[in-house]
Amino acid sequence: MASVRNLILVLGDQLSPSISSLVAGDPKRDRVLLAELHDEAIYVRHHKKKIAFLFSAMRHFAKELRALGWVVDYVTLDDPAHQGSFSAQVAHAVAEHRPERIIVTEAGEWRVRQMLEQWPTKLSMPVDILPDERFLCSREDFKAWTEGRKQLRMEYFYREMRRRTGLLMDGDQPAGGKWNLDAQNRKAADADLFMPQPRACAPDTVTQAVLALVEARFADHFGDLEPFWFAVTRADAEAAFREFIDRALPHFGDFQDAMLQGESFLYHAVIAQYLNCGLLDPLRICTEVEAAYRAGKAPLNAAEGFIRQVIGWREYVRGIYWLEMPGYERSNFFGHTRPLPAFYWTADTDMACVKAAVTQTREQAYAHHIQRLMVTGNFAMLAGIDPHEVHEWYLAVYADAYEWVELPNTVGMSQFADGGLLASKPYAASGAYINRMSNYCGSCRYDVKQRTGAAACPFNALYWDFIARHRDRIGNNPRMAQMVRTYDKFPADERQRITDSAAQFLASL
Ligand SMILES: Cc1cc2nc3c(=O)[nH]c(=O)nc-3n(C[C@H](O)[C@H](O)[C@H](O)COP(=O)(O)OP(=O)(O)OC[C@H]3O[C@@H](n4cnc5c(N)ncnc54)[C@H](O)[C@@H]3O)c2cc1C
Ligand code: SF4
Repeated sequence: MASVRNLILVLGDQLSPSISSLVAGDPKRDRVLLAELHDEAIYVRHHKKKIAFLFSAMRHFAKELRALGWVVDYVTLDDPAHQGSFSAQVAHAVAEHRPERIIVTEAGEWRVRQMLEQWPTKLSMPVDILPDERFLCSREDFKAWTEGRKQLRMEYFYREMRRRTGLLMDGDQPAGGKWNLDAQNRKAADADLFMPQPRACAPDTVTQAVLALVEARFADHFGDLEPFWFAVTRADAEAAFREFIDRALPHFGDFQDAMLQGESFLYHAVIAQYLNCGLLDPLRICTEVEAAYRAGKAPLNAAEGFIRQVIGWREYVRGIYWLEMPGYERSNFFGHTRPLPAFYWTADTDMACVKAAVTQTREQAYAHHIQRLMVTGNFAMLAGIDPHEVHEWYLAVYADAYEWVELPNTVGMSQFADGGLLASKPYAASGAYINRMSNYCGSCRYDVKQRTGAAACPFNALYWDFIARHRDRIGNNPRMAQMVRTYDKFPADERQRITDSAAQFLASL
């Protein structure tokens, strides 16, 4: 057998043939290692659909690489050669192939990065850790961008990324004259029989084998395994994205913040799971969205809204993650300590909005941004749930969840646990916001118009109780001060009713 020059380790979220580790290698002399690792599936107990999606996408990627001429060692979860962890699996491959060096693209997660950095010593072997060039802004560039700034705000970073990529730019000016059209993207939606659904792919024999394996090995994990409809190949993920452009993108902007009973996806792309594991390329999809706008197939507020999420928020949260880790994970600005209520797993609650978000999370490993932020996230913050428990829940339950993107969104954006590094104000809202943006309240046993009492929407008393409890921490924030003043104007007996209602509800959790 020819000797192996480099062992190229490809991680489960690096399923791109153009990933830097593969570009640096040579199919004739190097060997690729891809492994379904037990430790990675259980370090938080991931949703069954998420594990199946990734294992199947990895198996299909191995096939894609072999077709490109690579020799791939693919270790399935039930392979006798399966070692459980990255480090053990790599040590096993090193003993078998005796390569000259290991090549790997940098890990997306702090925990894994620590592991990779120990390998040169542990394995007595050079390890080349290459930058992940799928991101438009490197960790170093982001750090340089933050230097000298008193306050970090996504909006300024986003403008920089627009200039850098040339996306939606007319010369040095933003297309249409404005950088950000978010103000147009807050309409409530009506139920529509013709609402597009994300492209569903029938499981092939590879996926069917993975589904059987996941059912056998992770039966006690949260979530429904079937129906399983995610794309697991690059071609199918690209086809799903093209369907989004044709059918949903024109309405994506208008109804970006809307929620509807029985509609899990509305006009969202449902592609973060494909982007985050490497089946789709961020710059390429943004170029396609811009092309749809330029061709008159989608309005500017839709194209700009979409591109802002991908080259703005997605890159920005990654920058913040690497800037702030490892301490960021334990941020707890409000000192919240309440355990996560059981209904985050069971959906057994009378709150129709929370029930809908958790039910579809269990069924689809998906909820869209406003459900994550303003329903489950908002509730957790108002109720004073420990942000670390909230973080572990989000990391486990969504098919697109990886710590670099999930943690800043959860701890920073949704829980304000970083004290305002990521978000300019806490995303705290009473039931009135949910009622304005959804039709959940109409079928809820609680009354969204009542502030206190057993029949009142729990978000209402919890919201005002949150304002009262944290007035010292948030009162200086110009965007929250008005709410503190409003609370102060409530008569003393109303303030007492708020305290009592919130306490009674929290005691019932
Ligand atoms: C508490 C919380 C946790 C989250 N956890 C994750 C996570 O683990 N993984 C993840 O990819 N996104 C996460 N998000 C961001 C966002 O909710 C998801 O990216 C989005 O819902 C994915 O669905 P979609 O593909 O239909 O997105 P769309 O609404 O169609 O948006 C298009 C794309 O924009 C990107 N995007 C949109 N908003 C964000 C954002 N705030 N941060 C980063 N990228 C964004 C995604 O890649 C997404 O696919 C989280 C948001 C919150 C509030
Ligand atoms: S009334 Fe309150 S709990 Fe019920 S759906 Fe509306 S916001 Fe949610």
